Amino acid sequence: MNTIYADYNATTPLDPEVRAAMNEALDVSFGNPSSIHQAGQAARRLVDRARAQVAGLIGAAPDEIVFTSGGTEADNLAVLGVAGAATGERRGMVTSAVEHKAVLDPCAYLQEQGRAVTFLPVDGDGRVEIAAAEGVATSDVALFSVMLANNDTGTLQPVAEIVHAAQACGVLVHSDAVQAAGKVPIDVKKLGVSLLSFSSHKIHGPKGAGALFVRYGVRLAPLVRGGRQERTLRPGTENVPAIVGFGKACDLARARLEADARRVAELRDHFEKQVLARIPGTRVNGGDHRLPNTSNIAFDRLDGEAITINLDMLGIAVSTGAACNSADKTPSHVLVAMGQSAACARSSVRFSFGRDTTDEEIDRAVNLVVSAVKLLREARP
Ligand code: PLP
Repeated sequence: MNTIYADYNATTPLDPEVRAAMNEALDVSFGNPSSIHQAGQAARRLVDRARAQVAGLIGAAPDEIVFTSGGTEADNLAVLGVAGAATGERRGMVTSAVEHKAVLDPCAYLQEQGRAVTFLPVDGDGRVEIAAAEGVATSDVALFSVMLANNDTGTLQPVAEIVHAAQACGVLVHSDAVQAAGKVPIDVKKLGVSLLSFSSHKIHGPKGAGALFVRYGVRLAPLVRGGRQERTLRPGTENVPAIVGFGKACDLARARLEADARRVAELRDHFEKQVLARIPGTRVNGGDHRLPNTSNIAFDRLDGEAITINLDMLGIAVSTGAACNSADKTPSHVLVAMGQSAACARSSVRFSFGRDTTDEEIDRAVNLVVSAVKLLREARP
């Protein structure tokens, strides 16, 4: 029996069409895109094509895309880049308590350096309250950074409304769309954000590529110096095969988004209904406004990590939250910010489904979760 992969928010398998596109870049177009000879220009054309594909997924212009090594670097470039370019009184930063570490840690670093940073609270579903955002949108603030969708719960944030509140005071808005891209439609023009990060490996592309959308006219200080690539915002020879794969992955995500989201939402809803009906003492975290693929479930009186390990042995890969935090035992800061006790937050498991999840896997996953919980509850009644 095949293992069921239900950890698509951690990473996704490489799409075969992406692999084929990358192979071509690896084998044929190995040139340096900055070289003026034909081999270099062939690689340049691949990067240009990928830039247009990546821009197409979020409704941006190709020139507004800066390639990075992934979501973490894109988030860092947005937060530290705005901070580095900020002048005069407008130096403060505002973010939310439920952001990924890729935003929280650079914000904490800026705070250590003496900068004013506000961490907006969230309600019980993990959503930032607009009134709180409005209350801190002042002429002292340089940037609001609020994610589109949370990685642990899938909760969608009211980013368009936050942009509205921020714009009233001329504040720039960055959104971390690493989890949202490819799962819900994104149009940076409609959303009104100035900066938006996303990542290749979350949408069936290779690891080692990501992008920051930088609206025309927005000034950033680079994190790395040393060349003219990526408008000097991210100098260094481009990772052409990964960028080509990312471009292809964006094209596929755009073409498949509606159908994939509908199908995955049906599977996820069926999974949740079955788990809640068959296992007493279960609850879904994150409210109604969620990504179509994510199900974060609390299992009363159990340890989420124990469930995760048991499920792994039974043949289903899930997680207790962000993969980059899984080594430490602290409960999810997202669930804690939502008002849950540490014990309650520790009882939760994240199931995230995707493009390759089947009906049969969902039914089997429900049975395995029922078995794992039964075993654990019998072991510690
Ligand atoms: N932001 C969010 C919301 C994420 O879920 C992740 C990865 O899990 C990241 C940022 C970091 O992205 P990457 O793994 O591409 O560095």
